[in-house]
Formats: sequence, structure tokens, C-alpha cells
Amino acid sequence: MYYHDQEPKRPFLRKFLISALLLCAAFFGLKKWSPATLERLAFWQKHDKALAAPGPDVKLEPAPVLGAPVVPKVNAGNVVEPVPTGPVTVDRNAQVAVLLYHRVELKAPPALHIAPAVFEEHMQKLKDGGITVISMQDFLAWKRGEKTIPAKSAMITIDDGFGSTFDIARPILKKFGYPWTCFVYTNFISRGTALTWEQLAQLRDEGVEIGCHSHSHANLRDMQGKTPEAFDEWLKQEIVVPKQALEQRLGIKCATYAYPFGYTSPRVLELIKQAGYEAGFTLGASRAIFAGPVDRVPRFSWLDERPQDFNPVFAWSGRAQSVDAPTAPAVSPSAPSTPALLTQPLDGEVIKDPRPVLRANLSTLGAFDANSVMLRLSGAGMIPHSWVDTTKTTLSAKLPKPLEPGEYTVTITAMVRGKRVESQWKFRFDPAGQ
Ligand SMILES: [Zn+2]
Repeated sequence: MYYHDQEPKRPFLRKFLISALLLCAAFFGLKKWSPATLERLAFWQKHDKALAAPGPDVKLEPAPVLGAPVVPKVNAGNVVEPVPTGPVTVDRNAQVAVLLYHRVELKAPPALHIAPAVFEEHMQKLKDGGITVISMQDFLAWKRGEKTIPAKSAMITIDDGFGSTFDIARPILKKFGYPWTCFVYTNFISRGTALTWEQLAQLRDEGVEIGCHSHSHANLRDMQGKTPEAFDEWLKQEIVVPKQALEQRLGIKCATYAYPFGYTSPRVLELIKQAGYEAGFTLGASRAIFAGPVDRVPRFSWLDERPQDFNPVFAWSGRAQSVDAPTAPAVSPSAPSTPALLTQPLDGEVIKDPRPVLRANLSTLGAFDANSVMLRLSGAGMIPHSWVDTTKTTLSAKLPKPLEPGEYTVTITAMVRGKRVESQWKFRFDPAGQ
């Protein structure tokens, strides 16, 4: 699509087109739009505004560290500090609902705002639901098998680095004593409505985890007409360089990366690893599990128009399981029965290719039986698939014949520990790509 994450030469035209699109989206019902598409639209709308405001561009050469970083204090409140006695026993059945917010402020829609009162309600619901909010460091230690976490855990992440993150979200999170993570993209810092470097330094001193959300917040899959070499160089500017900038300016170790719009690619994942990030965060309405890929941790993304997306978070029924039950299934009985998958095309994507390759990474299903996996496409029935990896995690299927324009649903079923699990996603084929 023409608004697809490029830097057009005519921001006014873009601003007009995006506003028109958002109006149409609001009018025709946002339910049909995927979180990634909505974020893309809303992102460019505020991006133009923010970049119009005066502000220093980030200096990528070494700059003095802002203040002396202090050892982050462990937040009080709902945080449980497991005290390991002897060898560490890690609860492999624990799950973590990672929540993603953008702007905690009273603003009209579209898309990425949440009213402070509603945000506070969410925080209370976590507490009332017996869900423990854990820190990023505890999450990473759990994934490494070094530290256990409560069976029902959550993590709070706020992306982009708007001023309201500091002014409004921070006091609410403080009140609950919740640890949280702030993902920032470096060319936005200290501009317009964004957080300043000084505020980030203060967050750091208060124990907030600062993660990287790229340099320019562009779609890391979009080559934008670049040569392969130039594209690869640009990817490094978006992945490696902002990590260095955050680490040098703030004197921190920046261990985590949140992909803009949740988009990744094999090359992006490779660079994340090479750059030394310990974890990468994407979108997906499922809880993080111990066996899930640490470079694609799913997050429930809050969209004001789709509050139902958070239902699985707050309707987390079932008893918290005891720590380490080696014979228990890797996926607890409280796991959602329709886990979100990392797919190609993406959920809600509009494609131009009449014969797309369908791909899905099934790791969020847990321990599934690879032989039981079936893939169906609406209007076409069962489609044979093959595995793209030796671990049989990601499947790929080529369509036997070209698609007619329209909307399609892909359904994947698999047996997970004797239980049939189904997951679906939709995409639309439109030769004009609109
Ligand atoms: Zn973002």
C-alpha cells in the first residue's frame, strides 16, 4: 500500500491521505484491521507531527552518560522475589502475558491511546486477578532457566516513548509498584511530544527497563527500493546503532528490542542476535511460554477500539500451578485454545500476489505433534505443506492455483498433548493492493 512505511517526499499529502484512511477505518469498523496495520496508520500520523517539532537529532557518537546510573531498585508491591534454595527450580509451565501500550493519555481515537482511568483499571485487574507483574530482568532470567516466576505472570511494556509515558503512566505504575519496560526509538527522543533523554535517565534510575524500538520506527521488512547491500546497512542502523546510542547515553545494557509494528524477518532476527540483544518483542494475542522463541515474544497490543483483544489477559482463569511439575504439559490447561501464530501473510494483511506462500511458525502452540498438523484455506480446502526447518516449527505451503480477489481465512489444526488446537488468521488478496 502506498502509505507503507516509507518516507515520502510530500508529508502534507501523506498527512491528508492517512487522515482520510483513519476516518474510513473508524467509519467502516476497525475490527477488520490488524493491530500492525492500525499501528502503522496511527504511527505515521503522529510521526509527522512529532518530527515537525524542533528537537535535537540523536547523536550517535559517544556522548556523556546522563547522570550516574544507580543500581535499579527492585519494585515493591506485587513483585515476588523467589529465593532459590540450592539448585534453581524453574517453573516451565508459568506463562507471561506481555501487555503493550502506547499513549496513556486522554486523546480521541484512533488506535493507540488509552485513557489513564482505563489504564489504571487494567493495573487493578492484574492485581485482583492474582497476576504477578514481573520485571524484564526476571523474565529474561526465567527464559534462561535461572530464576522462577509465578505461574500467572504479566509484564508491562510501553512503546514509542511519548511524554505521557513519563507524566501519566509512570505515576500509576509507581502507585501499584509494578516494574515496567519502556521501548524507545532513538530519532524521536527529545523531540516534540517525546520523552527527553533526561526523563529516560530518571526512568533508568527508578529501575525502569529501557529497551530499543529501532532508530526511525520504519518497517524492517520494507526494502523501500534499496539495493540488498544498502538495505542491510540500513537494517544495522535500525538495530545495532540505536542500541549503542542508548547504552552510551544512558550507561545501561540495552538487552531487548521491540520490532516496529511487530515485523521481523530472518535477517532481522540474525542481526538482533549479532547485536547482542537477549530478547525481541513482537505482537500476538498469546502469552509467552518458557519454550517460546525469545526473539519473538508475543505481546497483547492495546487498541482502544478493540478492548476484546485483552480479554484473554484478564479472564485468566485457573489455579496458579505449583512450581516445577516436570510431568505437567508444557502448555498449561489455562492456555488459550486459539494461540496466535507468527504468519505470512500477516493477519489482516492485503497482498498483491495471487499465489502467496503461506507460512506459519507454530512454536506458540507448545509441544504439538508435527504429524498431526493440517492447513486449510477457505474456498480451497486442505493444502499440503512442508517444514522449512529441521525442528518442524515453521511450515510453508504453496497454493495449487491462483487466488480470486477476496478475503481468505487460513486455519491450522494440530494435536497438542492429545488435545486438538486450532488457530486462524485472515488475509485479503487484492491485485491492486488496496
Ligand atoms: Zn511503536
